[in-house]
Amino acid sequence: MPLLVMKFGGTSVADLDRIANAAAKVQREVERGYDVIVIVSAMSGKTNELVGWVEGTSRLYDAREYDAVVASGENVTAGLMALRLQEMGVPARSWQGWQVPINTTAQHSAARFVSIPRANIDAKFAEGMKVAVVAGFQGIGPDGRITTLGRGGSDTTAVAFAAAFGAERCDIYTDVDGVYTTDPRISSKARKLDRIAFEEMLELASLGAKVLQTRSVELAMRYNVRLRVLSSFEDTDETSGTLVCDEDEIMESRVVSGVAYSRDEAKITLVTVEDRPGISAAIFQPLADAGVNVDMIVQNISEKDYEDHPGSVTDMTFSCPVNQVERARKAMENARSAGLIAYDDLAVDTEVAKVSVVGIGMRSHAGVAARMFKALADENINIKVIATSEIKISVLIDRKYMELAVQALHDAFELERA
Ligand code: ADP
Ligand code: ASP
Ligand code: MG
Repeated sequence: MPLLVMKFGGTSVADLDRIANAAAKVQREVERGYDVIVIVSAMSGKTNELVGWVEGTSRLYDAREYDAVVASGENVTAGLMALRLQEMGVPARSWQGWQVPINTTAQHSAARFVSIPRANIDAKFAEGMKVAVVAGFQGIGPDGRITTLGRGGSDTTAVAFAAAFGAERCDIYTDVDGVYTTDPRISSKARKLDRIAFEEMLELASLGAKVLQTRSVELAMRYNVRLRVLSSFEDTDETSGTLVCDEDEIMESRVVSGVAYSRDEAKITLVTVEDRPGISAAIFQPLADAGVNVDMIVQNISEKDYEDHPGSVTDMTFSCPVNQVERARKAMENARSAGLIAYDDLAVDTEVAKVSVVGIGMRSHAGVAARMFKALADENINIKVIATSEIKISVLIDRKYMELAVQALHDAFELERA
């Protein structure tokens, strides 16, 4: 039997009517002759509520219990989806992570897949089951306890199942009808893309476009999974949505394909640290040990500003998620107390956001950075930090200008035009 994976996100299973709507889409594929593995998220808002309950109970919570609580949202929707399909006459069964079993690493709340043995689900397909409904976002660790994959993780569950079961396609049903040139909730000029290259989607996701979890794109790329994003609220067929595929399957070639943003960033500057070999290691090792996800880094040397300092000094600036600022501050203060580093001041700016332009065409085109900076300058937006890679340019700016910057860049690179 050909097999499809269909994933429904939180808004697509937000209540019983929406679960029924999603189930009807599944039924249609069964009628077309497919066996289906359905991956479900928790009802929208549920995971946030569960996280809130954990944090309201224990400030420095035990990560195993966090996962035990937070994974439960998906258990509810998996059971309800299986029930709804049964009511419609479709033979269906639900599976929690441990029942499959979805084996993961031990890293609670950020676990990765180790293996997904097919035997249990295949045995049920062989008995006539047409749909396996699997709870997304969760697995079981080597210690036999429930793990979760990080926020947005059901996308990754879906791709992993598509790879493990050799699915014809992995369809991600969500509340938008595809991947757009930027978040359609920020820019009304955002344009839906028919296709996007894996590399571009990977950059967009990791730079903040939450339509797909970054890890799901990585997995799809590695295992060559045909990955599609489409609407759960519209009638859809084989040609709907956006296909994430290899670069050479894309006809349209442009320098910039999309604009992404990440709202909750912070900028931290260690003012006047010694400029000597080993200083970066001395700063960033303690941050890594503290679990701080450092993103952009700049080291700016200004002899002039430090005339009163003997020897060479520098400022070291980095960015990290705003909710990790306290952890970063502690790590730096501890490193200073231990005599590993010295600095005059630790300046924190928690009101910044990151805006990025992405496109594989940048590899062969000059002038993208200049065009980006000009567009921001025309809006009087000050750039605080810049980072580039082969196919992206990111800037850190004041958060209050984030939406304006996204729109200005969308205009500057004429992304509304096909
Ligand atoms: P789900 O609950 O189905 O997993 P998410 O909320 O995780 O859905 O992801 C879908 C959302 O991603 C959309 O509602 C949209 O606001 C946002 N988004 C951000 N960037 C993009 C983009 N480039 N294209 C489409 N959607 C985007
Ligand atoms: N429910 C989880 C979350 O909100 C996983 C997912 O929906 O992908 O992060
Ligand atoms: Mg999501």
